[in-house]
Formats: sequence, C-alpha cells, structure tokens
Amino acid sequence: MVKKMSQITGKKTSAIPSTRPLASLRISFGRCNLLSAIHLDFLFLFFGLVFLTSCAKPMHKDKFVIAGTFLEVMSTDARASQIVYEEFKRLDKIFNFYDKNSEISRLNSTYNTPVKVSPELLEVLRLSQQLNQMTNGAFDVSYGSLYDFWKELIKKGSIKELPSKETIDSIMKNCGMDKIKIDAADSTVTLQKEGLKIDLGAIAEGYMVDKAVIALKKKGISSALINAGGDIYCLGTNRKNPWRVGIKNPSEIEGIIENEDLVDEAITTSGNYEQFFDLGGKRYSHIIDPRTGFPVATHVISASVITKNCTTADGLATAFFVGGISGVNDFLSKYRSTMRIFLVTQEGKQKRVHVFR
Ligand code: ADP
Ligand code: MG
Repeated sequence: MVKKMSQITGKKTSAIPSTRPLASLRISFGRCNLLSAIHLDFLFLFFGLVFLTSCAKPMHKDKFVIAGTFLEVMSTDARASQIVYEEFKRLDKIFNFYDKNSEISRLNSTYNTPVKVSPELLEVLRLSQQLNQMTNGAFDVSYGSLYDFWKELIKKGSIKELPSKETIDSIMKNCGMDKIKIDAADSTVTLQKEGLKIDLGAIAEGYMVDKAVIALKKKGISSALINAGGDIYCLGTNRKNPWRVGIKNPSEIEGIIENEDLVDEAITTSGNYEQFFDLGGKRYSHIIDPRTGFPVATHVISASVITKNCTTADGLATAFFVGGISGVNDFLSKYRSTMRIFLVTQEGKQKRVHVFR
C-alpha cells in the first residue's frame, strides 16, 4: 500500500507559497551544495572552492554542451568526465531528433519499410513500448508529429486560442504505438503510417545517462555523479556518504522541497516551468497528453522520480506529469515499486508537495 509522506511522518504535506516561476534541481553533495542548470558558472566556482578546502580526495568536475543539453560530470576519478562525454557523443548520433542524419531521423523518414536499427535504438523503443503500456498511454513516443506541432506554437509565443479539436485529430491520425512494428529477433522497426514520427525526447537522455554509467563501470570507476539537463545518476557514494540531491521547489530560487540521499540511483524531473504558454488563466506545458492530443494544463507543476535507472526515471517523470496523482496511484497499485515519487501541485496560490515512497 502506498503511503503519503504525511502518513509516514505524521506531518502534513508541506504547502509552499508561490512567488516566482521556475527552476531546476538543487543538488547538494554532502556538505558541498550546488545549484544546477541556471547558475552553472557560480555553481562551479563555489563547488571548486568547497572541495579545495574541505575534501581529502579532489573532486574532478566538468561540464559540456552535448545532445542539446548541458552535461555535468563529477568524480574523484579524473577519467570519468571524458568517458561520459564520449558515450554521449556516440549516442547523440542515434537519438538526436533534430539532426537529420541521426539514426532516429533516418528511421522517421521511412514508411512501411523494415529498417535495421542499432541495439541501443531497439532497446529504447522496446522500453518505450513497455512504459506506454504501464502508464495507460500517458507516455507515448509515437506522437512526435503532434509534439512538434505544439512546440512550434509555443515557440511562436503568444497563443490567442487553442487549435481546434479537428486540427488535433487530423495530426493524431498519424500517431500511435500500434503503428510501430518492432521485430526484436530481426532488429528491425517498421513505421506503418506515413508521417509517423518517433520522439524520444522524454526518455533518450535518461538512457544516455544509464549507458554512460555502464561505460564508467567497465573502466572500473565506481563513484561519480552525472547530470544531463536534470536527468541525474548517482553512482556509488560521494566518498563515504550518499550523494545528497535536493529537489528544487519550482517557485523559489533557494527553496527545496526534499533532500534525498542517493546511492546507485537516478532522479529526473518533468515540469511545466521551462517550456509553456499561458492562455485563459491556465498554463499549458510542452508535455502533451497523447490521449487527448492537448498539452497538460492541470494543477501538477512538476513530477520527480527516484529509481534504480535513469531511463525509467526519465520516462516515468513525464508520464506522472501527464497522469498526475491518479496516474501515480494507479501505477503504484499495479506495480510493486521501491521508487520515490514527488508531485508538486498548484493549489490556489500555494504549492503542495505530494510524496509517494
Ligand atoms: P524535458 O523537456 O525536461 O526533457 P521530458 O523528459 O518530460 O522533459 O520530455 C519532454 C519531451 O518529450 C517533449 O519536449 C516532447 O518532445 C516529448 N513528449 C511530450 N509529451 C510526451 C508524452 N506524453 N510522452 C512521451 N514524450 C512526450
Ligand atoms: Mg522524461
């Protein structure tokens, strides 16, 4: 049975006043704190200082821009960041939706032709299929043309009215997991509808993090933290302590909603605070409910998932953002799980944190 944090601790779930939009994750490493994403420069300065003064073994840290995101790697092993970077570079050639020469783009340009795919693409597609079933369709990578349509609208800026249901329905005709035929024995994928586009934006980053962790382990590295645009994996411990990760309150620069200790675990957050549009007093996200064809515009403003691998955390954070509290409850009632889930909702002028563990 799933218990809310309030049931476990006896405390009410915290209600956090809302003042500012947005943020990312705030991460703390034992006694060394750092703010990710938007304050990178400050962060690395600060981090460096702390480690020079308080830590016996120096912590190597690097940041890159790769695969359309920023990538941070920290480890006491100087080789770690290069190994992670090389793995991301390799996988970007498979998963980059916006590079017309990537493997996914080449697959997306085909119709009714079995296409041989790499083991990595095959694996992510099969995982995506499973997550689609486990989340009652809240997670669906086959709606790329619809996600693109909404992203273009968001990019344009001011939206005066929502597109008609007819417009959305006509795009949705080209979507659906049932139109992707995966032949695992043959390593082929066939797109059975013209115009169908697979968009792995909600899962590929998490997968790349997991593959980078495997690459590190192969080289005998047992301690590192990888952060790819908020998809984070904590390998081993931070010297003798767990890696401490704080989940940022989406409405405050300094506030965090939870501090969590992670060892060999991943955390990912999906939310409506970075890409969105406002219309008629509602905030519409860049995450779309594939069952309606319209952007999520509920009281959920972010969903975070902590679990054993980053691929699942990434996919489920997106799915739980779509499904909200009932989606999480439904999932947990069917699948026994040790994962920790945090939903932040907007309740009038206040924010509320719902913790499932
Ligand atoms: P982030 O933008 O931080 O990576 P997500 O991991 O939630 O956040 O991925 C969002 C992206 O996934 C969208 O930009 C879109 O390309 C795609 N997407 C949108 N809605 C869904 C959905 N319901 N299922 C799967 N992918 C989605
Ligand atoms: Mg995701």
